[in-house]
Amino acid sequence: MTSAELPQTFQALRAIREGETFRTELQTLPTASLPEGDTLIRVTHSSLNYKDGLAVSGKPGVLRSTPMTPGIDLAGTVLEDQTGRLPTGEAVILTGWGIGERQDGGYATLARVRSEWLVRSPAGTDARWAMSVGTAGFTAMLAVMGLEEHGLTPGSGEVLVTGAAGGVGSAAIALLAAAGHSVTASTGRAEEEPYLTALGATTVIPRGDLPALRRPLEKERWAGVVDTVGGETLAGAYASTRLHGSLAVCGLAGGSDLKASVFPLILRGVNLLGIDSVSCPTPRREAAWQRLARDLPMSRLEAMTQVRGLSEVPALAEQILAGQVRGRTVIDVQ
Ligand code: NDP
Repeated sequence: MTSAELPQTFQALRAIREGETFRTELQTLPTASLPEGDTLIRVTHSSLNYKDGLAVSGKPGVLRSTPMTPGIDLAGTVLEDQTGRLPTGEAVILTGWGIGERQDGGYATLARVRSEWLVRSPAGTDARWAMSVGTAGFTAMLAVMGLEEHGLTPGSGEVLVTGAAGGVGSAAIALLAAAGHSVTASTGRAEEEPYLTALGATTVIPRGDLPALRRPLEKERWAGVVDTVGGETLAGAYASTRLHGSLAVCGLAGGSDLKASVFPLILRGVNLLGIDSVSCPTPRREAAWQRLARDLPMSRLEAMTQVRGLSEVPALAEQILAGQVRGRTVIDVQ
């Protein structure tokens, strides 16, 4: 495709801060206004993550400057890759690397990014599948890989997933169940029990029934933990993790503090694993996406996925921050 054939304009959901006021607005912009980068993508789908909820609602800490196009995920096809790495028309996925935070992201019909950030879509998948997975599903995959690399095997015992009905939580349940692990889902939404069981949870417990932290070492229960909540939930799970068990620490939906002692580490050999999806190195990214294509096909994702339009993102952002969005939301940007 020659430069003259490339689209001259595109649509984007822009986040704008003027003094004390913050708003979002759908705008038509010239292609030349995109940030620097070697690769132009026609974006067909993006997704909604908790972080996108913060960005689109104008909460501090995500958007480093404005005006900015939020959206930490995108999927689409290559229009032009000046590095020559990817051919025109190649189906690609981009999650993290600072898009939708430090530079324009996925809530737009075009994106200009760095070729090295892009992962080729696994064979047999499409952009809707990729964004049904998105950062949340990718993070869940990294968490499960981390637990398994530290000794978790089917039969090890109960694996706790906190924030279970959310995006990371839902995907973690499905991935753990697909790998043969026994999953206990913790949720604040009792009405979601049938949904969580259908995803593969063997036990569903109300958020309030998780063992609270009273002593540095609580009764051993969890062989592994995927935690998306942080705060007291994580502290309690950490103190209740079994000998040589591991916790994959993903999120802070309930708080960013961690009140903890060293005792689970030095007396039980517990592994506290940090999960960072944003700057995860490329070889690990590619391995995670290949396994996602195998273990989380669209047929499994269907039950946890809704597809919505770009204009609905501001309302959805409020809902995800209020803990009201179930599973994953794909944004059809075209
Ligand atoms: P969601 O909003 O989809 O899910 C979060 C879930 O946490 C909710 O559905 C709810 O689950 C639970 N929850 C919400 N508020 C509270 C609360 N106050 N106390 C206890 N539980 C609560 O978000 P995501 O799944 O997209 O993200 C989850 C977390 O993981 C976020 O903090 C996000 O920033 C982080 N994250 C981190 C990544 C990384 O690279 N480390 C990447 C992606 C996400 P339920 O209703 O079942 O109780």
